[in-house]
Amino acid sequence: MSKANGKIPLKQSSARIRPSMKKDVIQARDFNAYKIPFACEDCSHFASETTTCTLGFNTANHLRANSLHSYELSGKIAQCRFLEID
Ligand code: SF4
Repeated sequence: MSKANGKIPLKQSSARIRPSMKKDVIQARDFNAYKIPFACEDCSHFASETTTCTLGFNTANHLRANSLHSYELSGKIAQCRFLEID
């Protein structure tokens, strides 16, 4: 607490270690009209037995259930740039 004027100084939040994840907007008409591969479950690098990525990425934001939940809330999905389909 500042002793000079009796006010409590604002505490600044610490700097982010890394930027927040970018999410892409997908128009609802496109989402409904096309079969867009957007989830780990669509990807060649996905190990379904362990729900992990064989490239070592964190799958939490790219799993189908989480992506659909994000899309229903915001119309946006965090698409993995390394998603690969056969
Ligand atoms: S490369 Fe991306 S989309 Fe594919 S399994 Fe790994 S995290 Fe998921």
